[in-house]
Amino acid sequence: MKVVLDHLTKKFPSRNKKGDTVTAVSDFCFEVPDGSLIGLLGPSGCGKSTALNLICGLEKPTSGRIFFGDDDVTNLPPENRGVGLVFQNYALYPHLTVRQNILFPLQNLKGKDRLSKAEMLKKADEAAKLVQIEQLMDRKPSEMSGGQQQRVAIARALVKLPRVLLLDEPLSNLDARLRLQTREEIRRIQRDTGITTIFVTHDQEEAMSISDLIVVMKAGVIQQIGKPQEVYDDPANLFVAKFLGTPPINVFEGRVAGGKLFLGEDEVLRITGVDDQAVWVGVRPEGFIPQEAGPLGCSLAGVEVMGRDTSVVSTHPAAESVSIRSIITAEHRIDRDAETVRFALKPNKVFLFRRDSEERIPFEAV
Ligand code: ATP
Repeated sequence: MKVVLDHLTKKFPSRNKKGDTVTAVSDFCFEVPDGSLIGLLGPSGCGKSTALNLICGLEKPTSGRIFFGDDDVTNLPPENRGVGLVFQNYALYPHLTVRQNILFPLQNLKGKDRLSKAEMLKKADEAAKLVQIEQLMDRKPSEMSGGQQQRVAIARALVKLPRVLLLDEPLSNLDARLRLQTREEIRRIQRDTGITTIFVTHDQEEAMSISDLIVVMKAGVIQQIGKPQEVYDDPANLFVAKFLGTPPINVFEGRVAGGKLFLGEDEVLRITGVDDQAVWVGVRPEGFIPQEAGPLGCSLAGVEVMGRDTSVVSTHPAAESVSIRSIITAEHRIDRDAETVRFALKPNKVFLFRRDSEERIPFEAV
């Protein structure tokens, strides 16, 4: 089931005396392809939960429309939309067993949708199997780990075979290892069921690792939509470039003059297609190549070996942050005792942005 958002906007009345409204979701226009998993990604307060609440019907839009396939669901109440919802805090009924929790949505079906007891039990068993908790059916939520409870919540959301599955920060309450494991599970379940899924998170790594498409948001406005790798390799603006990637992109104050790109005093690349101007320069951590006579001279602050790769921490007067983090592969050796380290830059890992609008400026290296 594809989901289409057509100029969807949600404004909230102000909570301050000035009476300004808050635009939590501003003119969202995109399509979630049938059977795909899309990640809504952005910092706290950017409107992710509001967007999800609009899609499931818990909030009414100020303007715009929502379609599930060809059905206009904008004015349908949540229970008639056929959505499955999973929240951060599992929201299981503590006094019910796992089986009773999963059965709960089926017991509320009315009219022609009503099921016999045997049918309900069969569906609950199938949902439990899908999330691999079939041995825990007689336990109460308090007798399970966070990861297991979240699986029960997912089974409960899936048991009615929703048209669309909506997940709001479903992994936030889990520890790091469980988070990793459960996100892979979610991906597997999504692939197995083929249910169109919208996943909300502020964690870029989480969104990048499981989404077919990511929607990067800032202050209620979509910044970029694309496949995770494409957005990482081709960010539309400085915000997106900074938001994706661990360690984050290194940002410098730079200058283009006569076809040369300068970081401070260092001439680091020869480029075409850009007028002379001051720019922001983003360099991905993997964009640095240690080179004895490299054009970028940095003061070495530390070298951390992380198994396969080495992380080099250095400083440069034109860098926006206190330190620059570069990741270099094992074939390059860094003298830990040296005071300086010099780098050449990989042009495809270097991005230029306007100083005012922070929009990307395309260039070609020569
Ligand atoms: P978080 O990751 O912290 O949950 P979010 O990206 O999900 O954040 P939303 O909860 O959607 O963000 O909030 C978006 C904006 O809308 C925020 O500025 C928030 O204060 C505002 N907002 C959300 N709900 C309401 C409401 N009921 N009334 C007024 N303003 C609201």
